[in-house]
Amino acid sequence: MTSLIPFDNSYARLPDRFFVHVAPAVAPAPTLIRVNRALADQLGLDADWLEGPDGLDMLSGRQVVPGSDPLAMAYAGHQFGNFVPQLGDGRAVLLGEVVDRDGRRRDIQLKGGGRTPFSRGGDGRAALGPVLREYVVSEAMFALGVRTTRALAAVATGEQVYRETVLPGAVLTRIAASHIRVGTFQYFAARQDIEALQTLTDYVIARHYPEAAQAENPARALLDAVVAAQAELVASWLLVGFIHGVMNTDNCSISGETIDYGPCAFMDAYDPSTVFSSIDRQGRYAYGNQPQIAHWNVTRLAETLLPLLADDEDAAIKIAEESLGKFAEQFQSAYHSGLMRKLGLVAFRDDDLDLANTLLSAMTQNSVDFTLFFRRLADATEVGNDEPLRGLFVDPTVCDQWLARWRERLAQEPDNLDRRDAMRAVNPAYIPRNHRIEAMIRSAVDEGDFAPFEELLAVLARPYDDQPDMTRYADPPQAHERVMATFCGT
Ligand code: AMP
Ligand code: MG
Repeated sequence: MTSLIPFDNSYARLPDRFFVHVAPAVAPAPTLIRVNRALADQLGLDADWLEGPDGLDMLSGRQVVPGSDPLAMAYAGHQFGNFVPQLGDGRAVLLGEVVDRDGRRRDIQLKGGGRTPFSRGGDGRAALGPVLREYVVSEAMFALGVRTTRALAAVATGEQVYRETVLPGAVLTRIAASHIRVGTFQYFAARQDIEALQTLTDYVIARHYPEAAQAENPARALLDAVVAAQAELVASWLLVGFIHGVMNTDNCSISGETIDYGPCAFMDAYDPSTVFSSIDRQGRYAYGNQPQIAHWNVTRLAETLLPLLADDEDAAIKIAEESLGKFAEQFQSAYHSGLMRKLGLVAFRDDDLDLANTLLSAMTQNSVDFTLFFRRLADATEVGNDEPLRGLFVDPTVCDQWLARWRERLAQEPDNLDRRDAMRAVNPAYIPRNHRIEAMIRSAVDEGDFAPFEELLAVLARPYDDQPDMTRYADPPQAHERVMATFCGT
């Protein structure tokens, strides 16, 4: 078969104990659901080829195309705070890497690609629902401007997978800057394999943070860079109302991309204690806990790096603490400046934070839809547009009071003719609302109807545009549509 994919597999050239060579499972009767043509193009791949028979064979595991060197990566991780020394790719197969049009190296991975030596009790498969959820939500995150893995393709395998019920199987082709996680470092640290830690550190620096190679202490520079990347990532989540749902260290990417869309969800009404994931019974990964958890995760990374930070352990701990100590400020700076932009403010003043916090607590108390409020606030830069905002509050007088204070503050800003546009450029109209995702999955799984999947993708590709025919996708759920819990589906 022909392959038009110029694979260059740097991870496969690492020592043997970093991964296991595997062959993807062969899907018995694959059908193409979708190829992401724009992404294919960006990766320098031929979208027509991907959509054709050879492409389908690759995307469904039927053929290992020339240049691909499929492997399952080894990693460990803390799951809900408990350390598991070996996890690894149990239902994902890395086909290889390509260098995209911008010169960035990207992984091509089949998620749901069959059993591997890391599968433990699992079947290595993915069900159609979670594949479509990850496809839609990761692509929505990308369009929103949040760093994320991407979805290159989805195929149905023609095979059934057994969960609580029997479900159609599918494979997602995931693209990532890399699939190296905090848990990858933990895997070698748990084995006290310092040589592998050094190799991994050098590899990650060369691949993701090349400037760290020039630093006096490259391991420290790497830790600084990951701390900063995670601080910025979690701030960008909060600013769009995203809840990851399962921020285990094996789901915490070293490159700073959002990875592993399991029970993730977007918040409708603002409330920092919001949890959707059915397996997060303690609320460890609630919306408002995410910054703290990201800090906890990079602290686990710092622990693995101690032997590389300094020869002397006390000195190493001091370096790690200094690096971790920057997280809070970096998060706050990213989050606060994002909030200011959402409010239409350019020049930062002392009590702006109080202005924002007063709003957020009023939103919590009044169950105000997070996305709609900020989108409508842009329109309230023109007087006479308050009703759509007031209507979101249980007690509209709370809204009036806050708007008065906000306008007083705006009056102190430099004249800004573009304020409304600037606000609309950071306050999306469209997010992947849970009830829409659930309805899309039901149509596809129960009726084989992928039209809602396509429509949702099209709307969410332009989250900051009005799209007058699509306003129903901007609406929060009605009481009977509300989704109370999300599931990993693994
Ligand atoms: P996750 O919760 O998706 O981050 O996965 C945690 C671990 O469970 C990883 O090692 C996965 O590879 C593994 N895993 C999840 N689902 C399956 C499955 N269906 N079969 C085998 N391994 C799985
Ligand atoms: Mg995972």
